[in-house]
Amino acid sequence: MSERLHFAVLLIGMPGVGKGTQGKLLAQHSWLVHVSTGELLRSLPDDSDVGRLVANYLGRGEFVPDELMLEIWDRWLAEQMRSGRYRPGEQLLLLDGIPRNLAQCQRLAQQIDVRQVLSLSPPDDEPMVERMRQRAVLEGRSDDADETIIRHRLEIYQRETAPILGFYGPELIREIDPMQTPSAVLEQILEGLTPIRSTLGMSPPRHH
Ligand code: ADP
Repeated sequence: MSERLHFAVLLIGMPGVGKGTQGKLLAQHSWLVHVSTGELLRSLPDDSDVGRLVANYLGRGEFVPDELMLEIWDRWLAEQMRSGRYRPGEQLLLLDGIPRNLAQCQRLAQQIDVRQVLSLSPPDDEPMVERMRQRAVLEGRSDDADETIIRHRLEIYQRETAPILGFYGPELIREIDPMQTPSAVLEQILEGLTPIRSTLGMSPPRHH
């Protein structure tokens, strides 16, 4: 859609690692523009065709098909730029939930320049399953309520999303232990982003 590359940082981690919590905290920094595709998808109006279609996938714990997801993403990005909430070159996109598989990585490579991949990887899955059960009660998310669906999403994560780390390669990856307190996780993330932040606004202008 746009011929220029957008600077981006990816938040990667299995469901329950705390990407949502970190995303909200990080979104308070004006040099970051955060999006959670899960939230974006859940916010689509129930009475629209696309909203109904998406709700069907979400309720089963399935991915939304790539074409549809990328269309929703393109629309989101265009709207952020149009409204001035996102200023390319001056701010970093902080992406939670996209790209979510290798096909999405390949498609997005024409649009985004990934500067860092924040990988929140717990030593094992069980504490994550427990966090999701608690979240289901607090937030009323149907895809968190059922243990079979939770396990299904963890499987999909291992199969589809974990290979993303291989796509970007070790030099872009920053490993963060999600079992620390939220503020300790936040501090580590910000520490890693500082050098990237300092390059913002320094890219050469497109036209001379
Ligand atoms: P979690 O990380 O806990 O699975 P999210 O809120 O990130 O939850 O996403 C919820 C659901 O939204 C996913 O299970 C999936 O169905 C859908 N989804 C989010 N992002 C994408 C994407 N990039 N491509 C396809 N489906 C997506």
